[in-house]
Amino acid sequence: MLDLKRHLARLAFPFTEEQTMAAQSIRELARDRIAPGAAERDLTGAYPIELFREACALGLQAMKVPTEDGGAGVDNVTYALAMEAVAEACASTAVILASSNLTTCILAQHASPAQKDRWLRPYGAGRLGPASFALSEPGCGSDASALATTARLERGQWVLDGSKAWITNGAHAGLHLVFARTDGPGASGISAFVVERGTAGLLVGRDEDKMGQRASGTVSLHLDDCRIPEDHLVGRRGDGYRIALSALGAGRVGIAALSLGLAEAAFDAGLAYAQQRRAFGKLVADFQNTRFVLADCRTELDAAWLLTLRAARLLDQGERASAETSMAKLFATETCGRVVDKMVQIHGGYGYSRDYAIERIYRDARVTRIYEGTSEVQRTVVARELLR
Ligand SMILES: Cc1cc2nc3c(=O)[nH]c(=O)nc-3n(C[C@H](O)[C@H](O)[C@H](O)COP(=O)(O)OP(=O)(O)OC[C@H]3O[C@@H](n4cnc5c(N)ncnc54)[C@H](O)[C@@H]3O)c2cc1C
Repeated sequence: MLDLKRHLARLAFPFTEEQTMAAQSIRELARDRIAPGAAERDLTGAYPIELFREACALGLQAMKVPTEDGGAGVDNVTYALAMEAVAEACASTAVILASSNLTTCILAQHASPAQKDRWLRPYGAGRLGPASFALSEPGCGSDASALATTARLERGQWVLDGSKAWITNGAHAGLHLVFARTDGPGASGISAFVVERGTAGLLVGRDEDKMGQRASGTVSLHLDDCRIPEDHLVGRRGDGYRIALSALGAGRVGIAALSLGLAEAAFDAGLAYAQQRRAFGKLVADFQNTRFVLADCRTELDAAWLLTLRAARLLDQGERASAETSMAKLFATETCGRVVDKMVQIHGGYGYSRDYAIERIYRDARVTRIYEGTSEVQRTVVARELLR
């Protein structure tokens, strides 16, 4: 892990003392507590619930939630630095936190005072475990406005029926933010609900057998005549899709930073390997090809960082920054894919071995171009903003 001061200096951004201090303590947690078990978790798929609890002590599960609502109250720039640090150590842990943060940001913005008392403050105190964001379904992901899960009001209770797919934290969450259709077809017929862990009719599927990020507890959720009180509706009825999309917009900065954390870990590994492996009587780092690859990757990484920090900064200034968050997610995750692939190449055959961290990073990186909006969806958003 690169020294934080050098890292920030390279990005030539005016970071505040608060941002730097928060990033430093999160990097220490990542280096000392999260990194050591990452390879083992990848092997076993064991969900790091103990680490989640430790992360709660630093407020990492509800970073952008205001302090009066029980969160850490940090800005988007700090959130990005945190996601980078955690992902550099372990991408599974980073996405567990990203998903929890996504859900809690929505509660902070849209929950009623009573709902905040019931869920957000205990959550901020680390008493509810992780949170899940349950939008995708077996039949739709990018086109979430086509979701088929229904919620009907019956004698003062919402009755939910349907299935959710690919839900990060799904098996371990204390609360799930579930999006369901209350009012006919299209985006305006969708509403958001909190479903608490253990609610009758909420069934958790088996862990998905994934290529990477194998410890993030991704499951399907099944809602079968699942009854929740009427006041579990979050925000206004019919506002669910708008709520989901606005949170995902800001969430993209977190995924951009997460992918850059992975890419930085890959870059460090490639740089180190090239300086100790010899071929044809030379260090691999002495071949001009290797040097050009390293220079290109560093240039692309810095460019991706600047786009990511620009998006975070715009969000902190209260801008919607739809195009900028999508550009950041698109470029950072695509850069991550290219950098990680090139660092595997620098490792030669050893890059293909589980004995080297680069192999896990390669698998962990692939999904960043898929979840929280695929690269194609990001391009669609950018183009839509251009042609508005
Ligand atoms: C590990 C993992 C964790 C996840 N965690 C969560 C979670 O916690 N909560 C949650 O709700 N979801 C989660 N997801 C789901 C994820 O958000 C979706 O997989 C993603 O949005 C893509 O949807 P899809 O898989 O249905 O692909 P599809 O939407 O079926 O897309 C298939 C292909 O078509 C392309 N495509 C689709 N529409 C367009 C278009 N308009 N223009 C151009 N190309 C298009 C896509 O880019 C993609 O290449 C997770 C997924 C994974 C793999």
